[in-house]
Amino acid sequence: NYYSANDKRYESMVYKRTGKSGVKLPAISLGLWHNFGFVDDIENGRDILRTAFDLGITHIDLANNYGPPPGSAEENFGTILKQDFKSYRDELFIATKAGYGMWDGPYGDFGSRKYLISSLDQSLKRMGLDYVDVFYHHRPDPETPLEETIGALADIVRQGKALYAGISNYGPEDTQKAAKLLKDLNVSFILHQARYSMFDRWVEDSLLDTLKNNGVGCIAFSPLAQGMLTDKYLNGIPKNSRAGNDSVFLNAETVQSNIEKVQKLNTIAKERGQKLSQMAIAWILRQPQVASVLVGASSSNQLKENVKALDCLDFSEEELNLIETIIS
Ligand code: NDP
Repeated sequence: NYYSANDKRYESMVYKRTGKSGVKLPAISLGLWHNFGFVDDIENGRDILRTAFDLGITHIDLANNYGPPPGSAEENFGTILKQDFKSYRDELFIATKAGYGMWDGPYGDFGSRKYLISSLDQSLKRMGLDYVDVFYHHRPDPETPLEETIGALADIVRQGKALYAGISNYGPEDTQKAAKLLKDLNVSFILHQARYSMFDRWVEDSLLDTLKNNGVGCIAFSPLAQGMLTDKYLNGIPKNSRAGNDSVFLNAETVQSNIEKVQKLNTIAKERGQKLSQMAIAWILRQPQVASVLVGASSSNQLKENVKALDCLDFSEEELNLIETIIS
């Protein structure tokens, strides 16, 4: 079945400039960490991607290891891209990364030049792309000199295999060093991808300031704390949920230990006339340094619901204080 994008796709999405760059990102972006592997139904993935683009979500986030199995999210994305989005490539901003374990032996993990360059070449093949829009180093590598990792990112950009460089999960100090190195190399460093939600606020300590000082935007991942900041776990753990699927990333215990907070937050969201997921997204978007909130979705309906966060982004002082007493 042939796909033709919604003509009105750019009418309601909000686009935010990332740092001091020329790039604008949708306030809500889509990540393919879960739900796009060979273990998943590719037609559901296609439906989510079509829905995303129809809603004005132009930014899609991947990594070499997304699946499972690792690599399969990129491969499925490549298949859907070719079938549905071929004529829209220049309307899409596509990211991938390397930094976690991807293949056996000493060259398939962490942050060597050897790993980053060969991994991106693999990613491009899997997705059927000539270049990605942004390529990230996925996590800091305590053993490889930062000069080597950042030098590899710079060369990747110079070779045209990525248009911009990014880093993910780096603390403020390494971020500052990376920003300086990239500046000296004259390479655009536009994005830092960091976990940020009501349940994980480490970026507020000093990362956001560091990014601001360097003109770099932040893209916030796991904004819903992997689904906890929605109404799905209010009455127990449904079987078809991340926590109900024996995920190594989210377990029932973690959900249980947060449920009281979730209930209280859910009440505030109701009073604001929105869903908890929507309030959780809006709460992150109030940070000026955040260019985009990077959500995941196991269905197109979840994505539609999440994008409605944009209908109510403002918070009163009272609401913010109330939220603060619950989460701090
Ligand atoms: P979220 O916190 O947005 O969690 C997404 C999950 O929450 C969905 O898969 C779904 O899970 C549930 N959900 C979403 N919307 C709703 C809704 N409206 N109602 C009920 N449940 C909902 O983000 P993720 O943890 O998935 O991360 C998002 C993206 O961030 C990833 O895809 C990836 O691109 C990136 N990321 C980057 C990392 C890095 O190290 N750089 C690490 C982690 C993520 P369910 O299956 O239960 O329905």
